[in-house]
Amino acid sequence: MKILTLDPQGFMVNNEFIVKELAISNGTQIYHSIFKPKTDFSMLSMKDKRTVEYLENNHHGIKYNDGFVDYKELDDIIEKISIDIDIVYVSGHQKYDFLSRLLEGKHTKVVNVENQGLSQLKLNRDYPQCMAHKDNFQMCSLVNCKRIWKWNVDVNDVDYFAKEDSIDLKAKSYLENYGYLKKSNNSDQEITEYSVYSDGITKFQEFFNLKPTGHLNNETLNLMKQRRCGVTDFAQNFVIMDKWLKKKLVWKFVRGNMDDELMTTSEFNVWQKNSDLSFHKNETHNDILIKYSSINHTFHKSCGGPGKCTFNFDGPGIVLAHAYFPQDDTCREIHLDSSEK
Ligand SMILES: [Zn+2]
Ligand SMILES: [Zn+2]
Repeated sequence: MKILTLDPQGFMVNNEFIVKELAISNGTQIYHSIFKPKTDFSMLSMKDKRTVEYLENNHHGIKYNDGFVDYKELDDIIEKISIDIDIVYVSGHQKYDFLSRLLEGKHTKVVNVENQGLSQLKLNRDYPQCMAHKDNFQMCSLVNCKRIWKWNVDVNDVDYFAKEDSIDLKAKSYLENYGYLKKSNNSDQEITEYSVYSDGITKFQEFFNLKPTGHLNNETLNLMKQRRCGVTDFAQNFVIMDKWLKKKLVWKFVRGNMDDELMTTSEFNVWQKNSDLSFHKNETHNDILIKYSSINHTFHKSCGGPGKCTFNFDGPGIVLAHAYFPQDDTCREIHLDSSEK
């Protein structure tokens, strides 16, 4: 199934939606343009001029006369990009009507995401907006297009599992990493019997109070895609692992900004309140060292280093951080995945 998300920003002129900015995404590539005006501003009615000025100032902030692509190319561009495409997602009935008219008689289906559970798009700071807008925080096609794509990835079967190996291989290594399935020494993934794999899925489903079906259904997959800690879910490990022998612990956040420091302080305070340990920040000596780390990363020279950390991070999403258990009161590290926002 080939999918696009599309978002136009524009003006209503003579009851017709006129595109000013257009973004189209297939998940890996984005088309983005600003179109020249279809008709001269002086030709508009008084009422339309007022609407144009309102939108210029308060909604998307792009000037009526801006643009670098000829308006007459618009239909052609959309038609060419959507050739072979099964579904185009847009947000809102005006945009739905506009695109449906354009793609009438074509094999491509237009779907309004507002009827599929994505509420009306509001201003959003998750993605940077483009340069076309007057102010910093206005409606941008580029941002909306990415927002709809994100929704599509979250809700539909387009997911990161499908992009790489088969879904089962991904799920299997997830179950192994977090203690639901014994790690196979054999790198040939096919070798695990289906019944063993299925037991792992059941164990995972039971742990998270899902219906234990032993099958990889959407509910189970969605849970595996959630952000999480990199340490196994089986907590008996925490009890039998080593503990700190001293009660007063010193921590340091390597190159942490003010937010990092404040957040860390308040989290250690929670721990301190609920245990007989106390935590103090200190820039020179430390027991716990916290640092941002890339996918392949090493220990810090002043703490666990030199040497490579055994656990690689996974890029954006899923694993956010991992930490080392205490051992003989030596300095121990907490690594935060630097690919997370
Ligand atoms: Zn924009
Ligand atoms: Zn690490």
